[in-house]
Amino acid sequence: MRQCTKCNQNIVQGYCIEGGLAYYCSDNCLHQHYSKAEWNDMYNNGKSDSYWTEWEINKITYEEAKERFINDQDVYLLFNDGTEGVAEHMDDIICHEGICGEFCMEC
Ligand SMILES: [Zn+2]
Repeated sequence: MRQCTKCNQNIVQGYCIEGGLAYYCSDNCLHQHYSKAEWNDMYNNGKSDSYWTEWEINKITYEEAKERFINDQDVYLLFNDGTEGVAEHMDDIICHEGICGEFCMEC
């Protein structure tokens, strides 16, 4: 599971710095460490190991999420902003389904 180096949120999309030296969830967090010019240098038109990406995630259905939770396995809730959170209660999962949220498990 990747975390934003700045704000420690779990993320499923964001900036990867030099092949994994650091990760940032958003422009906001990125630019607290690197200016736009620095980032453009590092990014180098996609020819470097610094880039924005969506990492592969194992999406699961609502039913699978509930079943995993009952079996004491990790269930993650995917949020629209590209972050994710751990489901700590069955209510979290039910609530998340209520807002048409998606679920995933550890890759
Ligand atoms: Zn962040």
